[in-house]
Amino acid sequence: MKIHGLFIVLIGGLMMRTIENSGYAQHHDHGYRVRKAVYAGSWYPGTADELQENINHYIVNADIPEIEGSVIGIVSPHAGYVYSGPVASFAYKSIIGQDPDVVLLLGNAHREGFRGATIDNADAYESPLGTVLLDTDLAGQLVAHSNGIRIDGTPHQREHSLEIQLPFLQHVLKSGFKIVPILFGYDAEDAQRDILKNLPDLLKGKKYLLVASTDLTHYPTYKDASRIDKKTAGIIASMDTVALMKHERDEMAKGTGNLACVLCGATATSSVMSLCKLMGADKGQVLKVANSGDVSHGDRSQVVGYCAVIFIDTSESGSSPIKFETVADHLTVEEQRMLLGYSRQVMTEFVQTGKPVTQKPDNRLSTIKRGVFVSLHIGHDLRGCIGYIEPVMNCVDAVLDNTISACARDPRFTPVTMGELDKITIEISVLTPPRPVDSWKQIKIGHHGIILEKNRHKAVFLPQVAPEQGWDLGTTLRYLSMKAGLSPEAWREGTQFKVFEAQVFSEKDI
Ligand SMILES: [Zn+2]
Repeated sequence: MKIHGLFIVLIGGLMMRTIENSGYAQHHDHGYRVRKAVYAGSWYPGTADELQENINHYIVNADIPEIEGSVIGIVSPHAGYVYSGPVASFAYKSIIGQDPDVVLLLGNAHREGFRGATIDNADAYESPLGTVLLDTDLAGQLVAHSNGIRIDGTPHQREHSLEIQLPFLQHVLKSGFKIVPILFGYDAEDAQRDILKNLPDLLKGKKYLLVASTDLTHYPTYKDASRIDKKTAGIIASMDTVALMKHERDEMAKGTGNLACVLCGATATSSVMSLCKLMGADKGQVLKVANSGDVSHGDRSQVVGYCAVIFIDTSESGSSPIKFETVADHLTVEEQRMLLGYSRQVMTEFVQTGKPVTQKPDNRLSTIKRGVFVSLHIGHDLRGCIGYIEPVMNCVDAVLDNTISACARDPRFTPVTMGELDKITIEISVLTPPRPVDSWKQIKIGHHGIILEKNRHKAVFLPQVAPEQGWDLGTTLRYLSMKAGLSPEAWREGTQFKVFEAQVFSEKDI
């Protein structure tokens, strides 16, 4: 347990450094503006540890199907995390590990009335998880091409609907992305049209993610909300903005008791629906619909509805590099960070003392058995790699064992020395259990790890080997045959194949 505490200190330390590096104090005098989190500590936890743990809990419990293709846009709710966090997690789980250059964050203003749309004039947003820069270049270009949209921080100051999305983005995306926070006011048709007209061109060549922040029905009964919200989410997923407007009008006209609003982020949502369609999304998918009455002890006489909807470009192979057969197999970013930190500690202590550490992290991963590889690199060169394909021990023990093996027992290398510790980057691959496939034709290159077995010969490649080497499937299987001590074309006949997926993460990225 002591070690677990140490990791929290370590992670906390990293967070602190990120915040300190934002240079808020010293830059503020020169006009560098950081929008501080206004709702941290009330609508969501105010410390990094608590916030990570809170989001992690929701993400682990959000059971989403496997997604074929690349998610380019999401619709996510914006109430306090106690109410809508579990729903938001369905959307955010679908984009774990994405690495966008920029996230367009669209919402409808709740606190200020103004005409058109505004982009915050801040240089950065701060949350308990650190600081994220605004893409001020893109914001400037968007405004330069538009009549209805301008730079103005005032409506953003007390607005919750965009702030509330930020910790989720920081939790699931690779760090380094920038944001463009856009709020719509009233009479926003011109602004919306300009955004739809210009944004696709401005995003060319960039990796991007579109986020619409909206809640659904406000204040009907649980039963009415369930009916209306289900329909609303379905229409959002259809990307038919005309149908959404009609549905909104029709529902309001019915005079359902206490219904004040069908969706509060209508302009933001219809903009993201249209943008995703324009930018190649060919499928929308509802991942979750729920309302505030679903929270334990939630009041069911008056509720607010929430949905998680995603927009997918199915022609893209997926911006998250690895997809899983079952989503419960995912390790969250926090769990990846924990395993890398533990591996680093094991390596340092073993190289210095020749003994393994005795303390171990105690968490979900100490109960899950998985195949694990630990790879050490110096620059682009491999410096050691050892692991097991089969799930013979739990993830924590497997990292302990394979870290020591990779730095001291890889027969291809001399043991790692003290002088190398700072130069080494640790990469961990956590595998799903291998399963047989009927034919080599079912192997997806870059996605599947491959086990080849013929007579008594056996060899394995991790999924990342083929893309790293630039091999196609045939070439990969030729090398795999040779690795097993067979002739290059031996894979073509009488061979059994098993495949597995791997989640690969490195100190380089986390
Ligand atoms: Zn709202």
